[in-house]
Amino acid sequence: MNNTNNAHPLDQPPAERGRHASRRRFLSVFGTAAVGLPLLGACGTVPDAPAVTTDRKSPMGGARPQVQASQAASPGNEVKRTSFPISAVGLTWTGSPRGVRLRLIDRSGKPGAWRKVTAGCPCAKDPETVPTKSTTPPNRALVPAYGSYGYQLDVDSGVRVVEAIAIDAGRSGTKRLPATAATPSKPTASGTGGAPAFPPAGVVLRADWGADEAKRFTADGSESSPTRFTRAQAITVHHTATPLDDPDPAATVRAIYEQHAVSNDWGDIGYNFLIDRQGTVYEGRFSGSDGIPAHNTRNEIVTGFHTFAFNPGNIGIALLGDFGKEKPSAPMHASLVGLTASLAALHKLDPLAAITYVSPTSGKSTPGPALGGHRDWTSTECPGSAAYLNLSAVRESAARFVR
Ligand SMILES: [Zn+2]
Repeated sequence: MNNTNNAHPLDQPPAERGRHASRRRFLSVFGTAAVGLPLLGACGTVPDAPAVTTDRKSPMGGARPQVQASQAASPGNEVKRTSFPISAVGLTWTGSPRGVRLRLIDRSGKPGAWRKVTAGCPCAKDPETVPTKSTTPPNRALVPAYGSYGYQLDVDSGVRVVEAIAIDAGRSGTKRLPATAATPSKPTASGTGGAPAFPPAGVVLRADWGADEAKRFTADGSESSPTRFTRAQAITVHHTATPLDDPDPAATVRAIYEQHAVSNDWGDIGYNFLIDRQGTVYEGRFSGSDGIPAHNTRNEIVTGFHTFAFNPGNIGIALLGDFGKEKPSAPMHASLVGLTASLAALHKLDPLAAITYVSPTSGKSTPGPALGGHRDWTSTECPGSAAYLNLSAVRESAARFVR
């Protein structure tokens, strides 16, 4: 079946652009309504929700990349179609981390092969109040979709897809982003070269990667997740479990922002920083308009949404790619060393130290590393075994600049 010739609902402009009022309402309304939606067409295709589009000026070169996304929904096993080419499908599910399969649908409606979805970083927002019982964050993945026009899910029994969102993250401008952004000078023979300055030269700020700041606000103009700042205690490394050969990492950052801010309803991207394979460092979670990423003017760190129950004071750095088997590239490694060294120096953290993290929310003390991986704090594969093993080298190198 070819829906492109029909008067598909998605081919018409979105009727309403009050993104966040509709977004929050939609999450509850659609979650219920979707169950009873009639199947449209002989192939049982259910139209996806209207796309939400942003298009503004960007310093990346020319217009701000156009980002489109379906409304976040909790789909069953029906085919979900879009009127735009999908660069990634963001998924959140409970149950087995290996219990989801996905197939992409091309423009003509032809399905591709079923693929197993690999759960990525189970990043999560802390509850506003101290939880009364331990909570396990759901599985999450950002599945590349290569310009498809739909997708279909198949899940094992016991698996429930909580949220799914189809994202076209747009094409980035032609302006070249810095190849390496946070590489410190070599240590001197005495072992110390002085920590690199923070913020790293060439860090790609939110406006530069095309963040649409409107996504952080509700329709009444209030911030969805107001910024909170606290003393830095730890640095935690993640991976995004997205493809290593990423042709447009800035677009992937925008897709993650869309998934975290809108689909997960966190109001922003969960990580404080992201690093791509070329070593480019991207600003993550919004922290004010002073041009200093991740911090306020009192040198406190903004709380992200990356390591559940250990977010306040924990600086989350995501490596773009899947590092289950492959180590970070040399430029990525160098930038991770430079960034962690500059942060450790700024906050007087010893990269080699074991610390006792004290939650400002619950007051609970938990032992952990000053510079570690997501799996040091919770049961997860993140940041991938190869990146995790590589962290000892990152600690050693960062410590040489700090000590
Ligand atoms: Zn993680």
